[in-house]
Amino acid sequence: MARKGDKWLRERHEYQTSEDPYLTDEAPAGEAICPRCHAVFRDKRWLIDEEFYEEYKDTDFVPKIICPGCRKALDHYAMGYLYLSGPFYEKHREEIMRIIQNEVERARGVNPLHQIITMYEEDGRTVIETTTDHLAQRLGRAIYRAYKGNLTFRWSEGDKLVRIYWER
Ligand SMILES: [Zn+2]
Repeated sequence: MARKGDKWLRERHEYQTSEDPYLTDEAPAGEAICPRCHAVFRDKRWLIDEEFYEEYKDTDFVPKIICPGCRKALDHYAMGYLYLSGPFYEKHREEIMRIIQNEVERARGVNPLHQIITMYEEDGRTVIETTTDHLAQRLGRAIYRAYKGNLTFRWSEGDKLVRIYWER
């Protein structure tokens, strides 16, 4: 019994190393799959494993749990905002959206909790909201790497919310 308690504590502790409030919940006990984004919980972390997902999605062997990334997306809990604007952006919108899509796929390959929550137009610029500050930074840097322009990071005080502005 004590041993079981220790194990539970350790897993919970490992899961709380991130400051992300959505990761402070108890981790699933064993394996799980997210029916919304197809992420898989294995080896104590969420990851992308399409084979595993395909194998178990229509069975009762593995519980289906909405992953923390999807819960944030559903709750509209953004930790990153990316603002894109400028005449160059308007002209190359399609290419830039492709870079964003590729970068999201790459980020999800490392950690499926990175997701775009929503994308919309506001005050003549495109706004992209992300589930993690890390993803917004990554997208901003990828666009800057490809096209230069002006990239500005603004962190909100005291928490992990970041607003990133790219303009060209
Ligand atoms: Zn998910």
